[in-house]
Amino acid sequence: MSGPRIGVLALQGDVREHVRALTRVGAEPVQVRRPEELADIDGLVLPGGESTTIGKLLDLFELLEPLRAAVKTGLPVYGSCAGMILLADEVLDGRPDQATVGGLDIAVRRNAFGRQVDSFETDLPLAGVGDVHAVFIRAPWVERTGPGVEVLATVGTGIESGAAAGKVVAVRRGPLLATSFHPELTGDDRVHGFFVQMVKEASS
Ligand code: GLN
Repeated sequence: MSGPRIGVLALQGDVREHVRALTRVGAEPVQVRRPEELADIDGLVLPGGESTTIGKLLDLFELLEPLRAAVKTGLPVYGSCAGMILLADEVLDGRPDQATVGGLDIAVRRNAFGRQVDSFETDLPLAGVGDVHAVFIRAPWVERTGPGVEVLATVGTGIESGAAAGKVVAVRRGPLLATSFHPELTGDDRVHGFFVQMVKEASS
């Protein structure tokens, strides 16, 4: 029996890495570029990449409205990094014309770890998953969570965390999951496994 069909938005970003991780956890990944393809999936991954570019392409490919509608009707979606930005209702330090999908009541700050800190790595406990190695690449963090949004992970408060100390970097609300970091780059598939479990719960 094959696992749930999980779309990976394939306009820009680290699509291949998500496809591979989903395959390894027993899901059936499908690349999504057209609105019709949204009808046929049980869940969707919004990959890391460049949120402003992905937003433009969503508009160009006429996927923005269909995707908003799919989120509203309860499609499980997992956004990593740029994907988290796309899911957020509020984007701080975004471009004025930045197109987003929204649906998750959080405010995220783009490129929050600072210009000098292009990438930052740390180990942190992720609720529901366990300790993970978190890789941040020009990542956002979460500055506000609305009612009902569960905080799944924060950066440790050690001196090595710098300005990121204590910041929220993983959240969930119902079928929506978002992480500032990129589990698809570490070879540790537990976050994808966790999302597949969410998708199964949503469709049962
Ligand atoms: N800084 C990027 C953005 O604003 C996100 C980076 C990433 O996805 N690795 O979209």
